[in-house]
Amino acid sequence: MIRFDDYDFKGKKALIRVDFNVPLNDKREVTDDNRIRAAAPTILKILKDGGSVVLMSHLGRPKDGPEEKYSLKHVIPVLEKHLNGTSVKFVDDCVNDDARKASSQLKAGEVLLLENLRFYKEETAGDEFFAGQLAEHGDCYVNDAFGTAHRAHASTTVVANFFPKDKMFGYLIEGEIESIDKVLHSKEKPVLAIIGGAKVSSKITILESLLPNVDHLIIGGGMAYTFVKAKGGTIGNSLVEDDYLETALSLLKKAEAKGVQIHLPSDTRIADDFREDASTDVCPTNAIPDGWMGLDIGPDTITAFVELITKCKIILWNGPMGVFEMDAFAKGTIDVANALVTATEKGAFTLVGGGDSVAAVNKYKLADKVSYVSTGGGAMLEYLEGIELPGIAAIRG
Ligand code: AMP
Repeated sequence: MIRFDDYDFKGKKALIRVDFNVPLNDKREVTDDNRIRAAAPTILKILKDGGSVVLMSHLGRPKDGPEEKYSLKHVIPVLEKHLNGTSVKFVDDCVNDDARKASSQLKAGEVLLLENLRFYKEETAGDEFFAGQLAEHGDCYVNDAFGTAHRAHASTTVVANFFPKDKMFGYLIEGEIESIDKVLHSKEKPVLAIIGGAKVSSKITILESLLPNVDHLIIGGGMAYTFVKAKGGTIGNSLVEDDYLETALSLLKKAEAKGVQIHLPSDTRIADDFREDASTDVCPTNAIPDGWMGLDIGPDTITAFVELITKCKIILWNGPMGVFEMDAFAKGTIDVANALVTATEKGAFTLVGGGDSVAAVNKYKLADKVSYVSTGGGAMLEYLEGIELPGIAAIRG
């Protein structure tokens, strides 16, 4: 496999799959430019080497052909800013004659952005002919879209077959893989995973697959109450998945057998309604009164979790500790995020991944104070679970 830094892009046209699936407001302005910023180093390096760049991405979920609101032209101003003012050419299709003409006329140092790949249903279908049409745009293929690496789409996977040798990951995917591998194969200890969020059902596979790799596992958020109930606690009206009580118990047993210490919240901030202005109180997590629900970890738990986090050397965080979207129940998530920052300052490697924990570190402006923030929630979880991602396999061969 070719490493990105070892490839000579001089005089080459690089076809790059980027992930510009960014949120837009009503005025079609980009409201979160993280993914565009994250793609810039790969693009700039190719331009600096004397190559040219053809960018392809999806945006949103167009249903049936082109839709103005999902046009990639909306990202151009932000992209040009992150490319230090390099002007970006745009073509309103990704495979037609205009698109082919635009890429064939591209000169060294120039950047061309193709229109949304998902305006063609062939993209998500992984259509081979469509992938071949895309492949014609480049002399080499760079996959830098980690967020879609778990999908076997035409531009993320099938297109790589048209580049038997000249295919590689960009800096972004290289960084993502390196970070996850650091968590999975670290020699440093202790290794801690903090898993929160709403449901056990959506996190059980990741919890199980982390057991061989971690020393400590913090379970927070709504999913903690299923574990507490499984252990015989009373959880009032808190979120629970009764179908997963057995699964929760079995995970606790497996953890014990492997010597992994599980940390559940000892106390909980409870509320008498799922509302920002509900009455609140604090009680032991296993003794929540009827009519009350746990919406955040409590103060004793925060102290214990913060102490543990700041002692660990490798830390993965996925999922909030409570309903952090409401300020009244955000303290657990904020304090955990800050503890990760402290741990990072003390030399720990800290990886944050998964939609809501990434949203949390961004909300509290801590993203650049942890070691790595993953751009691909679903892809990161699947990679951690040991699943071979099609977009990664297509390059590694
Ligand atoms: P996930 O997508 O599974 O990581 O879950 C994230 C969601 O879990 C966020 O929207 C949180 O508001 C929600 N959540 C976290 N803790 C709780 C809780 N104690 N009760 C209900 N929802 C929660």
